[in-house]
Amino acid sequence: MATLGQPQKTIEIIKKHDFTIQKKFGQNFLIDTHVLEKIINSAGMTKEDCVLEIGPGIGTMTQYLAEEAGHVIAVEIDTKLIPILNETLADYDNVTIINQDILKVDINQITQDYNQGRPIKVVANLPYYITTPIIMGLFEGGVPIDNITVMVQKEVADRMQVGPGSKDYGALSLAVQYYAEPYIVANVPPNCFIPRPGVGSAVIRLTRYKTPPVDVVDPKLMFRLIRASFNQRRKTLQNGLNNSSEISFTKEQIIEAIEHMGLNPSVRGETLTLKEFAGLSNFFTQLIN
Ligand code: SAM
Repeated sequence: MATLGQPQKTIEIIKKHDFTIQKKFGQNFLIDTHVLEKIINSAGMTKEDCVLEIGPGIGTMTQYLAEEAGHVIAVEIDTKLIPILNETLADYDNVTIINQDILKVDINQITQDYNQGRPIKVVANLPYYITTPIIMGLFEGGVPIDNITVMVQKEVADRMQVGPGSKDYGALSLAVQYYAEPYIVANVPPNCFIPRPGVGSAVIRLTRYKTPPVDVVDPKLMFRLIRASFNQRRKTLQNGLNNSSEISFTKEQIIEAIEHMGLNPSVRGETLTLKEFAGLSNFFTQLIN
Protein backbone atom coordinates (compact mmCIF):
# COMPACT_ATOMS: atom_id res chain seq x y z
CA MET A 1 0.00 0.00 0.00
CA ALA A 2 1.17 3.54 -0.76
CA THR A 3 2.19 4.97 2.62
CA LEU A 4 4.77 7.61 1.80
CA GLY A 5 2.29 10.46 1.26
CA GLN A 6 2.17 10.80 5.08
CA PRO A 7 4.66 13.46 6.30
CA GLN A 8 5.75 11.36 9.33
CA LYS A 9 6.63 8.43 7.05
CA THR A 10 8.71 10.64 4.75
CA ILE A 11 10.63 12.08 7.73
CA GLU A 12 11.12 8.56 9.12
CA ILE A 13 12.65 7.28 5.85
CA ILE A 14 14.94 10.30 5.51
CA LYS A 15 16.18 9.85 9.10
CA LYS A 16 16.52 6.08 8.87
CA HIS A 17 18.81 6.36 5.82
CA ASP A 18 20.59 9.44 7.17
CA PHE A 19 19.76 11.07 3.83
CA THR A 20 20.85 14.66 3.19
CA ILE A 21 18.44 16.60 0.98
CA GLN A 22 20.25 18.02 -2.05
CA LYS A 23 19.16 21.52 -3.02
CA LYS A 24 21.26 21.31 -6.19
CA PHE A 25 18.97 18.50 -7.44
CA GLY A 26 15.80 20.51 -6.69
CA GLN A 27 14.71 18.04 -3.99
CA ASN A 28 11.34 18.98 -2.48
CA PHE A 29 9.46 15.85 -1.50
CA LEU A 30 5.66 15.79 -1.74
CA ILE A 31 3.85 15.08 1.53
CA ASP A 32 0.19 15.64 0.63
CA THR A 33 -2.00 12.66 -0.24
CA HIS A 34 -4.73 14.84 -1.84
CA VAL A 35 -2.25 16.38 -4.26
CA LEU A 36 -0.80 12.95 -5.07
CA GLU A 37 -4.27 11.58 -5.83
CA LYS A 38 -5.10 14.62 -7.97
CA ILE A 39 -1.96 14.13 -10.06
CA ILE A 40 -2.64 10.44 -10.63
CA ASN A 41 -6.34 11.00 -11.45
CA SER A 42 -5.75 13.82 -13.89
CA ALA A 43 -3.13 11.80 -15.76
CA GLY A 44 -5.95 9.28 -16.44
CA MET A 45 -3.84 6.26 -15.56
CA THR A 46 -4.89 2.68 -16.34
CA LYS A 47 -3.19 -0.72 -16.02
CA GLU A 48 -2.53 -0.50 -19.79
CA ASP A 49 -0.20 2.46 -19.28
CA CYS A 50 3.57 2.62 -19.23
CA VAL A 51 4.60 5.66 -17.20
CA LEU A 52 7.87 7.54 -17.07
CA GLU A 53 8.46 9.22 -13.72
CA ILE A 54 11.20 11.84 -13.69
CA GLY A 55 12.89 12.18 -10.30
CA PRO A 56 11.11 9.68 -8.02
CA GLY A 57 12.92 10.99 -4.91
CA ILE A 58 12.17 8.56 -2.07
CA GLY A 59 9.42 6.92 -4.15
CA THR A 60 6.29 8.67 -2.84
CA MET A 61 4.53 9.24 -6.15
CA THR A 62 6.11 6.08 -7.56
CA GLN A 63 4.07 4.00 -5.10
CA TYR A 64 0.83 5.64 -6.29
CA LEU A 65 1.84 5.18 -9.94
CA ALA A 66 2.81 1.54 -9.43
CA GLU A 67 -0.67 0.85 -8.04
CA GLU A 68 -2.52 2.45 -10.96
CA ALA A 69 -0.30 1.90 -14.01
CA GLY A 70 0.93 -1.20 -15.81
CA HIS A 71 4.64 -0.36 -15.65
CA VAL A 72 6.60 2.53 -14.14
CA ILE A 73 10.06 3.60 -15.30
CA ALA A 74 11.56 5.92 -12.69
CA VAL A 75 14.68 7.90 -13.63
CA GLU A 76 16.56 9.37 -10.65
CA ILE A 77 19.90 11.23 -10.81
CA ASP A 78 20.83 11.01 -7.10
CA THR A 79 22.67 7.74 -6.45
CA LYS A 80 22.07 8.12 -2.69
CA LEU A 81 18.33 7.71 -3.29
CA ILE A 82 18.63 4.34 -5.03
CA PRO A 83 18.88 2.17 -1.86
CA ILE A 84 15.91 4.10 -0.44
CA LEU A 85 13.88 3.48 -3.61
CA ASN A 86 14.82 -0.21 -3.51
CA GLU A 87 13.34 -0.36 -0.03
CA THR A 88 10.20 1.79 -0.50
CA LEU A 89 9.30 0.08 -3.79
CA ALA A 90 10.20 -3.47 -2.74
CA ASP A 91 6.54 -4.54 -2.75
CA TYR A 92 6.03 -3.59 -6.42
CA ASP A 93 7.18 -5.80 -9.28
CA ASN A 94 6.18 -3.32 -12.01
CA VAL A 95 8.75 -0.60 -11.31
CA THR A 96 12.11 -0.17 -13.08
CA ILE A 97 14.53 2.27 -11.46
CA ILE A 98 17.16 3.89 -13.67
CA ASN A 99 19.95 5.84 -11.93
CA GLN A 100 20.66 8.52 -14.56
CA ASP A 101 20.34 12.16 -15.51
CA ILE A 102 17.02 12.46 -17.39
CA LEU A 103 18.62 14.95 -19.79
CA LYS A 104 21.07 12.24 -20.88
CA VAL A 105 18.64 9.35 -21.16
CA ASP A 106 17.40 8.19 -24.58
CA ILE A 107 13.67 8.30 -23.79
CA ASN A 108 12.70 7.10 -27.27
CA GLN A 109 14.73 3.96 -26.52
CA ILE A 110 12.88 3.55 -23.20
CA THR A 111 9.52 3.64 -25.01
CA GLN A 112 10.84 0.99 -27.41
CA ASP A 113 12.27 -1.23 -24.66
CA TYR A 114 9.32 -1.04 -22.28
CA ASN A 115 6.26 -0.13 -24.39
CA GLN A 116 6.97 -1.36 -27.96
CA GLY A 117 7.23 2.29 -29.07
CA ARG A 118 3.62 3.03 -28.10
CA PRO A 119 2.80 6.37 -26.41
CA ILE A 120 3.76 6.60 -22.75
CA LYS A 121 2.53 8.94 -20.01
CA VAL A 122 4.96 11.18 -18.18
CA VAL A 123 4.29 12.08 -14.56
CA ALA A 124 6.62 14.00 -12.28
CA ASN A 125 7.14 16.43 -9.49
CA LEU A 126 9.86 18.07 -11.55
CA PRO A 127 13.18 19.43 -10.35
CA TYR A 128 12.43 23.11 -11.08
CA TYR A 129 15.94 24.02 -12.25
CA ILE A 130 15.48 21.99 -15.47
CA THR A 131 11.72 22.19 -16.14
CA THR A 132 12.00 23.77 -19.59
CA PRO A 133 14.77 21.53 -21.01
CA ILE A 134 12.89 18.43 -19.80
CA ILE A 135 9.53 19.43 -21.33
CA MET A 136 11.01 20.74 -24.57
CA GLY A 137 13.28 17.68 -24.84
CA LEU A 138 10.23 15.41 -24.62
CA PHE A 139 8.32 17.36 -27.30
CA GLU A 140 11.16 18.15 -29.68
CA GLY A 141 12.69 14.70 -29.34
CA GLY A 142 9.51 13.26 -30.85
CA VAL A 143 8.96 10.91 -27.90
CA PRO A 144 5.59 9.10 -28.31
CA ILE A 145 3.53 10.61 -25.48
CA ASP A 146 -0.16 10.66 -24.47
CA ASN A 147 0.18 13.31 -21.83
CA ILE A 148 2.62 14.91 -19.41
CA THR A 149 1.31 15.67 -15.92
CA VAL A 150 3.84 17.57 -13.89
CA MET A 151 4.34 19.73 -10.83
CA VAL A 152 6.15 22.90 -11.83
CA GLN A 153 6.75 26.36 -10.43
CA LYS A 154 3.39 28.20 -10.51
CA GLU A 155 4.80 30.99 -12.64
CA VAL A 156 6.04 28.49 -15.23
CA ALA A 157 2.64 26.75 -15.35
CA ASP A 158 1.05 30.15 -16.02
CA ARG A 159 3.57 30.85 -18.79
CA MET A 160 2.75 27.54 -20.45
CA GLN A 161 -0.97 28.21 -20.73
CA VAL A 162 -1.40 31.96 -21.44
CA GLY A 163 -2.01 33.65 -24.79
CA PRO A 164 -1.06 37.09 -26.20
CA GLY A 165 -1.80 40.07 -24.00
CA SER A 166 -0.34 38.60 -20.82
CA LYS A 167 3.09 39.53 -19.47
CA ASP A 168 3.70 35.79 -19.02
CA TYR A 169 3.22 35.09 -22.75
CA GLY A 170 6.46 34.08 -24.43
CA ALA A 171 8.44 31.50 -26.37
CA LEU A 172 7.60 28.77 -23.82
CA SER A 173 3.83 29.42 -24.16
CA LEU A 174 4.00 29.09 -27.94
CA ALA A 175 6.27 26.05 -27.91
CA VAL A 176 4.08 24.17 -25.41
CA GLN A 177 0.84 25.15 -27.18
CA TYR A 178 2.17 23.99 -30.56
CA TYR A 179 2.66 20.48 -29.19
CA ALA A 180 -0.01 20.13 -26.50
CA GLU A 181 -3.17 21.40 -24.87
CA PRO A 182 -2.31 22.75 -21.41
CA TYR A 183 -4.63 22.49 -18.41
CA ILE A 184 -3.80 23.63 -14.88
CA VAL A 185 -4.99 20.87 -12.55
CA ALA A 186 -4.21 22.45 -9.17
CA ASN A 187 -2.25 25.12 -7.40
CA VAL A 188 -0.04 23.67 -4.67
CA PRO A 189 1.28 25.72 -1.72
CA PRO A 190 4.81 25.30 -0.29
CA ASN A 191 3.58 23.46 2.85
CA CYS A 192 2.82 20.37 0.73
CA PHE A 193 6.56 19.65 0.46
CA ILE A 194 9.56 18.81 2.64
CA PRO A 195 11.54 21.05 2.53
CA ARG A 196 9.21 23.90 1.56
CA PRO A 197 10.15 25.51 -1.77
CA GLY A 198 10.49 29.30 -1.87
CA VAL A 199 7.88 29.56 -4.64
CA GLY A 200 4.30 28.45 -5.24
CA SER A 201 3.77 25.35 -7.39
CA ALA A 202 1.11 24.07 -9.76
CA VAL A 203 0.25 20.79 -11.41
CA ILE A 204 -0.18 21.14 -15.16
CA ARG A 205 -1.32 18.52 -17.65
CA LEU A 206 -0.13 18.79 -21.24
CA THR A 207 -2.17 16.59 -23.58
CA ARG A 208 -0.14 15.94 -26.71
CA TYR A 209 -1.88 16.86 -29.98
CA LYS A 210 -2.03 14.08 -32.55
CA THR A 211 -1.65 16.77 -35.20
CA PRO A 212 -0.47 20.31 -34.34
CA PRO A 213 -3.22 22.98 -34.12
CA VAL A 214 -1.56 25.04 -36.90
CA ASP A 215 -0.04 24.04 -40.26
CA VAL A 216 3.64 24.93 -40.37
CA VAL A 217 5.87 23.80 -43.22
CA ASP A 218 9.09 24.36 -41.25
CA PRO A 219 8.50 24.32 -37.46
CA LYS A 220 12.21 24.98 -36.78
CA LEU A 221 11.99 28.25 -38.72
CA MET A 222 8.80 29.20 -36.83
CA PHE A 223 10.56 28.67 -33.49
CA ARG A 224 13.54 30.76 -34.66
CA LEU A 225 11.09 33.57 -35.55
CA ILE A 226 9.42 33.21 -32.15
CA ARG A 227 12.74 33.39 -30.29
CA ALA A 228 13.80 36.40 -32.38
CA SER A 229 10.52 38.19 -31.57
CA PHE A 230 10.66 37.58 -27.83
CA ASN A 231 14.40 38.13 -27.32
CA GLN A 232 13.75 41.82 -27.74
CA ARG A 233 10.29 42.13 -26.27
CA ARG A 234 10.08 45.90 -26.30
CA LYS A 235 11.07 46.20 -29.97
CA THR A 236 8.63 46.10 -32.87
CA LEU A 237 8.36 42.76 -34.67
CA GLN A 238 10.13 44.30 -37.64
CA ASN A 239 13.15 45.47 -35.61
CA GLY A 240 13.22 42.30 -33.54
CA LEU A 241 13.45 40.12 -36.66
CA ASN A 242 15.86 42.49 -38.35
CA ASN A 243 18.33 42.58 -35.44
CA SER A 244 18.26 38.89 -34.56
CA SER A 245 21.05 36.42 -35.23
CA GLU A 246 18.37 33.68 -35.36
CA ILE A 247 17.33 34.61 -38.89
CA SER A 248 18.90 36.33 -41.91
CA PHE A 249 16.06 37.78 -43.97
CA THR A 250 16.53 41.27 -45.42
CA LYS A 251 14.67 44.27 -44.04
CA GLU A 252 12.60 44.37 -47.24
CA GLN A 253 11.62 40.70 -46.93
CA ILE A 254 10.60 41.26 -43.30
CA ILE A 255 8.47 44.30 -44.21
CA GLU A 256 6.89 42.28 -47.05
CA ALA A 257 6.08 39.39 -44.69
CA ILE A 258 4.47 41.67 -42.09
CA GLU A 259 2.43 43.34 -44.83
CA HIS A 260 1.42 39.99 -46.29
CA MET A 261 0.08 38.95 -42.88
CA GLY A 262 -2.05 42.12 -42.77
CA LEU A 263 -0.27 43.21 -39.59
CA ASN A 264 0.39 46.79 -38.54
CA PRO A 265 4.04 47.72 -39.41
CA SER A 266 4.62 48.78 -35.78
CA VAL A 267 3.19 45.58 -34.27
CA ARG A 268 5.15 43.96 -31.43
CA GLY A 269 6.02 40.27 -31.64
CA GLU A 270 4.48 39.61 -28.24
CA THR A 271 0.97 40.32 -29.61
CA LEU A 272 1.10 37.59 -32.28
CA THR A 273 -0.85 34.36 -31.90
CA LEU A 274 0.55 30.92 -32.70
CA LYS A 275 -1.50 31.00 -35.92
CA GLU A 276 0.11 34.30 -36.93
CA PHE A 277 3.63 33.01 -36.24
CA ALA A 278 2.76 29.95 -38.34
CA GLY A 279 1.56 32.22 -41.20
CA LEU A 280 4.68 34.37 -40.98
CA SER A 281 6.90 31.30 -41.01
CA ASN A 282 5.11 29.79 -44.02
CA PHE A 283 5.46 33.07 -45.92
CA PHE A 284 9.25 33.08 -45.32
CA THR A 285 9.47 29.42 -46.34
CA GLN A 286 7.78 30.30 -49.63
CA LEU A 287 10.17 33.22 -50.16
CA ILE A 288 13.28 31.04 -49.90
CA ASN A 289 11.99 28.13 -51.94
N1 SAM B 1 9.01 12.64 -6.91
C1 SAM B 1 9.51 13.00 -5.59
C2 SAM B 1 8.36 13.59 -4.79
O1 SAM B 1 7.39 14.02 -5.41
O2 SAM B 1 8.45 13.63 -3.57
C3 SAM B 1 10.69 13.96 -5.66
C4 SAM B 1 10.50 15.25 -6.43
S1 SAM B 1 11.82 16.40 -6.29
C5 SAM B 1 10.97 17.92 -6.64
C6 SAM B 1 12.75 16.21 -7.80
C7 SAM B 1 13.49 14.89 -7.96
O3 SAM B 1 14.19 14.90 -9.22
C8 SAM B 1 14.55 14.63 -6.91
O4 SAM B 1 14.45 13.30 -6.47
C9 SAM B 1 15.88 14.84 -7.64
O5 SAM B 1 16.96 14.12 -7.09
C10 SAM B 1 15.51 14.39 -9.03
N2 SAM B 1 16.35 14.98 -10.10
C11 SAM B 1 16.95 16.20 -10.13
N3 SAM B 1 17.61 16.38 -11.28
C12 SAM B 1 17.42 15.25 -12.01
C13 SAM B 1 17.87 14.83 -13.30
N4 SAM B 1 18.62 15.62 -14.05
N5 SAM B 1 17.53 13.60 -13.74
C14 SAM B 1 16.74 12.78 -12.97
N6 SAM B 1 16.29 13.13 -11.73
C15 SAM B 1 16.62 14.35 -11.28
